[in-house]
Amino acid sequence: MTQADVADAMAKASASGATVVSQGYVSRAEAGRLTVTDDRLAMYATALGYPRGLLCLAPEADGAGVGLIHHRKRASLSVATLRHVRAQLALTHIQLRGLTSAAGNPASGHRFTRVALDDLVTAEDAAGRVRRSWGIPPGPVPDMIGAIEEAGGLVVVRDLGGGLLDAAGQWGPHGAPLLLVSNRAPGLRRRFGLAHELGHLVMHTDPGSGPEQEKQADAFAAEFLMPASDIRKDFTDRVDLPKLMELQRTWRVSMTALLRRALDLGAVTEWRHRTVTAEMSALGYRTAEPAEIARERPGLVSELVRALLDEHGLPLAEAASRAYLLPEDFQRLYVESDRTSSL
Ligand SMILES: [Zn+2]
Repeated sequence: MTQADVADAMAKASASGATVVSQGYVSRAEAGRLTVTDDRLAMYATALGYPRGLLCLAPEADGAGVGLIHHRKRASLSVATLRHVRAQLALTHIQLRGLTSAAGNPASGHRFTRVALDDLVTAEDAAGRVRRSWGIPPGPVPDMIGAIEEAGGLVVVRDLGGGLLDAAGQWGPHGAPLLLVSNRAPGLRRRFGLAHELGHLVMHTDPGSGPEQEKQADAFAAEFLMPASDIRKDFTDRVDLPKLMELQRTWRVSMTALLRRALDLGAVTEWRHRTVTAEMSALGYRTAEPAEIARERPGLVSELVRALLDEHGLPLAEAASRAYLLPEDFQRLYVESDRTSSL
């Protein structure tokens, strides 16, 4: 919403429905140059569709809204989309903190560690270390979201705007990392996007130089999902379309990523890579995988919500208020999300 949109919505939300609110008022309020109280606060909250309490949180004190946000850099990504993603992360942190404290288990342990890259430690090494420390056996990762959750990370499906971003991640202010996955990303991209974000979380502590970090995160994701020592034997036969289709089912990675992996491991020549890529383009496989997989779904957060509502007997309105959400939004984001096929 623009500030003018907010001003309009506030006017409509006023008791008389005709109070005049200027864009300048909203601008000063957002800049912290005036204090919003009483009726105006209620109007503001109604206009934005959140309970008043959310607007009274101090973002810095609560640790949300700060910290490095990782996402796949795409040239066409607009500033508005990035702000949207940033807001989604900040709000989701606040919601989850409210819900975990309501459940009485704040800051449960996690097994995410950081790996500093240097001349001797590569992104591939980092991926191997994480796999080992998480106890992932050799071979494909059957459930990427499951692996992250098993390690104590939180995964939530959200609208990341525009469909250009598949995932975004951020260390929690006081605990486990939070990974958002786009509700539009198909199954295979969902997995690779999360592995890429995991790489950022593990390896990168500062925004750094974009292109270099992107390459490292991709190398991490490739090794995490397709460890060189495990997948090499699958590339000993001729790497063609039927072979890639077969490997896609086993490894749950796109044919494009598999072919790229084969090139990086020296299992196919540049020429062969180009030829097969052209074949895939001609068949439309580059935009839509021929054998897309079912989307993996997070389970940890919905389990927490189920326990709150069913075992602790917390009324839905109370759970919503703990998450700083209106009941209908809480219902949509945390209760129904499981059952909605688009998520
Ligand atoms: Zn990235």
